[in-house]
Amino acid sequence: MAETELYSCPACGAVNRLPADRLVAGEGHKIVCGKCRGKIFPGLPIEIGGRDFAATVLHAPLPVLVDFWAPWCGPCRMLGPVLERLAAQLAGRLIVVKVNIDEHAHLADRFSVRSVPTMMLFRRGQVVETMLGAMPLEALLGKIRPWLH
Ligand SMILES: [Zn+2]
Repeated sequence: MAETELYSCPACGAVNRLPADRLVAGEGHKIVCGKCRGKIFPGLPIEIGGRDFAATVLHAPLPVLVDFWAPWCGPCRMLGPVLERLAAQLAGRLIVVKVNIDEHAHLADRFSVRSVPTMMLFRRGQVVETMLGAMPLEALLGKIRPWLH
């Protein structure tokens, strides 16, 4: 049997088995949910909301960029559209997750976030890059590209 990875659908929450070879081939953006037929990796930033951080980020089958942000932070608002473009450009190769530190202070504590915006790139549950402050898209891509499949 072919190797599979488990991941929850961002729309309906159903746990899907994803073919690992398609993820490695960069075809993740084409995979649809077996339950709701929505895209598993829609190419949009995901708000962590009530989702489980471990399942969404630490056990994700793709690299995950986590943006720790706050609504009162001006540079965070500047970074928002940059992350939307990044998520669209790397749909199926990178997952972008937004964590509002006012609502999820325990996550900010756990990862020692001292200022916003702070971006952390996770790969297989490990932080491989930390970036402080807003950045232009090209600079962000330069940091992330080496970690993509
Ligand atoms: Zn679904």
